[in-house]
Amino acid sequence: MNSASRSLLSIEQLDAGEILKILKFARSMDPDRPRPLLKGKRVFLLFYEASTRTRTSFEVAAKSLGAQTVLIQSAGSSIEKGESLLDTGYTLRALGADVIVIRHPNAGAAHVMERHIDVPIINAGDGLHEHPSQALLDANTILRNKKSFKGLQVAIVGDIFHSRVARSACHLLSKFGVKIILCGPHELVPEIATTIAPGVSVARDVNDALHGTDVLMLLRVQTERLAGLKIDPADYIARYQMTSARLKMAKKDCILMHPGPIIRGLELTSEVADGMQSRILEQVRNGVPTRMAILARAVGKMR
Ligand code: ASP
Repeated sequence: MNSASRSLLSIEQLDAGEILKILKFARSMDPDRPRPLLKGKRVFLLFYEASTRTRTSFEVAAKSLGAQTVLIQSAGSSIEKGESLLDTGYTLRALGADVIVIRHPNAGAAHVMERHIDVPIINAGDGLHEHPSQALLDANTILRNKKSFKGLQVAIVGDIFHSRVARSACHLLSKFGVKIILCGPHELVPEIATTIAPGVSVARDVNDALHGTDVLMLLRVQTERLAGLKIDPADYIARYQMTSARLKMAKKDCILMHPGPIIRGLELTSEVADGMQSRILEQVRNGVPTRMAILARAVGKMR
């Protein structure tokens, strides 16, 4: 495998077999039992956008595998002085990068890096496009709770339009025949969202989305990306906020997921966030072994 094929740019371009291979390897990874698969390697974390979970979990994952990590954030680096994406990439390569993990506000940024810099690139979120490591850790969480994707119905409720998490989730789940229902107001869930992947439909009424659902994914309204789009929080809460009463409409053993950050009192109540069906913190925990697998794959050690 060359550096390009060890990159992780999107879920759309992975086939089901490769996804299952990564998930299987992730099951064998344990941050409490470190393995030196990345010993002597340098992992650069290049973050042009805010992040808590993704950045820290890539860092914990890389260190658990014995790598050195270096964090570069746009504030305080030469990016602020106008350095281009590629010049930053060439600089990291000259500094001996073995893997570059990048989060960028523009869709396609990770692809541009991968095309020009011969170092494995991991997309940690590119604009509205994809967030592949999130989809893999979510799949890991689903499989730990539901054993298989067979016959599952997944409802994704919230700001689908601005969500790279939703796009990656749809691509992944669709490859395994999962029935996917996207739910929210027209502004946040345009009808065209059904074309993301096969098996995707849209529901406007949250009760329709919840009926028969095994896995419920909630998404934050991405206020930083609304760009003039007006969402009335009171109306959103009245129609879509996940409450204990609403959650009862789903299957009894439905699990509740959210990529974070959660906004308590907006897309969900505290009772639901902290309730028995919530897997939000389990997702965070599963992020580390999943990202260990992604990093091991990047350096050719996923065997
Ligand atoms: N953390 C996720 C992302 O970076 C979701 C969010 O920000 O709401 O896409």
